[in-house]
Amino acid sequence: MALQDKDRIFTNLYGYQLWNLPAARARGDWDNTKALLEKGRDAIIQEIKDSGLRGRGGAGFPTGMKWSFMPKESKDGRPSFLVINADESEPGSCKDREIIRHDPHKLIEGALVAGFAMGARAAYIYIRGEYIREAETLFAAVAEAYDAGLVGKNASGSGYDFDVFVHRGAGAYICGEETAMIESIEGKKGQPRLKPPFPAGAGLYGCPTTVNNVESIAVAPTILRRGAGWFASFGRENNKGTKLFQISGHVNKPCVVEEEMSIPFSELIEKHCGGIRGGKDNLLAVIPGGSSVPLVPADQIWDAPMDFDGLRAVGSGLGTAAVIVMDKSTDIVRAISRLSYFYKHESCGQCTPCREGTGWMWRVMERLRKGDADVQEIDMLWNVTKQVEGHTICALGDAAAWPIQGLIRHFRPEIERRIAEKGGALREAAE
Ligand code: NAD
Ligand code: SF4
Repeated sequence: MALQDKDRIFTNLYGYQLWNLPAARARGDWDNTKALLEKGRDAIIQEIKDSGLRGRGGAGFPTGMKWSFMPKESKDGRPSFLVINADESEPGSCKDREIIRHDPHKLIEGALVAGFAMGARAAYIYIRGEYIREAETLFAAVAEAYDAGLVGKNASGSGYDFDVFVHRGAGAYICGEETAMIESIEGKKGQPRLKPPFPAGAGLYGCPTTVNNVESIAVAPTILRRGAGWFASFGRENNKGTKLFQISGHVNKPCVVEEEMSIPFSELIEKHCGGIRGGKDNLLAVIPGGSSVPLVPADQIWDAPMDFDGLRAVGSGLGTAAVIVMDKSTDIVRAISRLSYFYKHESCGQCTPCREGTGWMWRVMERLRKGDADVQEIDMLWNVTKQVEGHTICALGDAAAWPIQGLIRHFRPEIERRIAEKGGALREAAE
């Protein structure tokens, strides 16, 4: 069942109305937020748990459970913090940008509600450096919320004091990893920490911290107003709610759209994107969840439900729901090689398998792209990806390995064809 307009949370996704406070209030934001807080911390967390909301930043960790990891009371005088991850840098991902551009008050109200539920003293919204206009909007929206008494001392008349800070990043992809983000806010070089301890135990300034994605926080007030049961009525077991999908590449009308979780890929594309460029038969492959998940060939993606389980079943993942569509005009080896370069460039260099492995993988990918490699290097490259995967401090190592694994798994004949063609051409030239 496709989503009806009345069920959409982000009613200003395309910016047809203003983002500012009066317009946001007219859309229902900040409507008696005090009453939401009066439900109490435990009730709010339970409602989010019951809604089935899973983290929208890519990993899909249950949001209510994450909030429940935060200490109920400060044992040693340490404050707790909420960090909101707006460092949206995953190639293909651009949903948080639209929320911040057009609906920033949903995010700020969500920060208050979530921060209150987990006993946080303040929220830090970490926004990627390249989002210059979006940061300007966010700064202005936060100022509006302070001026109206919605955040700050006695936030929204609740008796709870809660600050919201906006922190701009400087353009490093790795600062989207939650512990690298914490380091960066602390003024250090953005490099991931070993986990555990998880941030709920020792996070920002060594204090209990929860890091949540923009979309996860921005949907919270609506879930509390409409009820967990309403949100959980969309999607299917383990994959509940509505979700922002970002469809780019070879479709007739690329877009960001809020849809029901578990919508089939074909319906998402036909209904919102005007279909595949050149028609369904022209589809080659899809990266369904941002560049960190493996590609899926056309025949396996077409009927797949767009959710965590449906995409795992075809060997990929929902990730950020950034759907990159590639038609038959795509040089698939070149496309994956380009992604390999991205991960090599963005590796923070802290651990050897990632620092050395990403460079290795990219160089071999380039040889495969040019057809300059030996056929046995395909297996060697596969083995290198296996040595990187699961052997690094953060998920960037896996993210660099998986697209290559997807390529070899599904497009090995294409790689072999290039090598054979180049070899044949060289032999011909030598004869
Ligand atoms: P993860 O699975 O390690 O963690 C997800 C979240 O759950 C984290 O907040 C973590 O602290 C928490 N968590 C996990 N296990 C826990 C435990 N036992 N106790 C307490 N908390 C626990 O994944 P990750 O490294 O945070 O994120 C990887 C994902 O990020 C990838 O799947 C990718 O899709 C996504 N990603 C998104 C972007 C973007 O621009 N939005 C960029 C890069 C990657
Ligand atoms: Fe840095 Fe890569 Fe290691 Fe992550 S996996 S800590 S990005 S070197």
